[in-house]
Amino acid sequence: MRYSLWNDRIVLDEEVIIDRQDRGYQFGDGIYEVIKVYDGEVFTLSEHLDRFYRSAEKIKLVIPYSKDKLIRLLRDLVQKNNLATGHIYLQITRGISPRQHHFPENSKPVLVANVQVNPRPLANFENGVKATMVEDIRWLRCDIKTLNLLGPVLAKQEAYENGCYEAILHRDGVVTEGASSNVHGILDGVLYTHPVNNLILNGITRNVMLACANEIGLTVKEHAFTLEQLKDMTEVIVTSTTSEITPVIEIDGHIVGTGKPGEWTRKLQKQFNATIAAVVRV
Ligand code: PMP
Repeated sequence: MRYSLWNDRIVLDEEVIIDRQDRGYQFGDGIYEVIKVYDGEVFTLSEHLDRFYRSAEKIKLVIPYSKDKLIRLLRDLVQKNNLATGHIYLQITRGISPRQHHFPENSKPVLVANVQVNPRPLANFENGVKATMVEDIRWLRCDIKTLNLLGPVLAKQEAYENGCYEAILHRDGVVTEGASSNVHGILDGVLYTHPVNNLILNGITRNVMLACANEIGLTVKEHAFTLEQLKDMTEVIVTSTTSEITPVIEIDGHIVGTGKPGEWTRKLQKQFNATIAAVVRV
């Protein structure tokens, strides 16, 4: 039996009904989060929910449940599904109404969450992945974790067709982030990462990774860099909830550093593992 969260009730998956007039379906009018679960423990849940409420506020959607209530419900959902390692997918839309662009007067938000078994991609952590550069054609509010994912979908498809794991997005040659990750480069003991603004999603993993950098004595500079500068870095990594700290060893045929995950990357991964272990007591 698999269970989902539907508004504030945990129900069997098949009991969830999505209305075709749901604004999430018709307009992508909603927001979401992906939250990692390690050994049955939800990682950085509070941070993800804070971002969930922030995204909601930015699109003027009022989440009808308190953070405490959502924490309880999501933990129950993980338990009820007996999830060990995987993730929670959580979304909320503006609700159900006959199709019209402006907000409906009386619609109630619709919240759905489910879990997915998803082992950690250890081979990627160990060996690194390839990436390709793609123009960032998304809108100018990438700080909102919107359900509208056509930009990233098209970029990922290009990456997929090129045999790459991730698309590194750029605006006029300046790297913003990955299609579904944050992008960072390391050169001469300094980690460079795009500053948090409207052009990127403020990644939860990015923030955990920056704390790890501080702990291991790696200097952090929140400065944007160009594609050319990124290619000259000795180490490149992408971070996300599911990709954690994944080394990039090749960008469009260009070999990054030695072509193998670098020493700082290894140290960051080790510190990240220690952070997970401290939080989830694995
Ligand atoms: N940027 C984008 C565009 C993303 O989709 C994601 C993944 N949700 C991230 C960054 C990384 O965010 P997080 O570490 O919170 O998963």
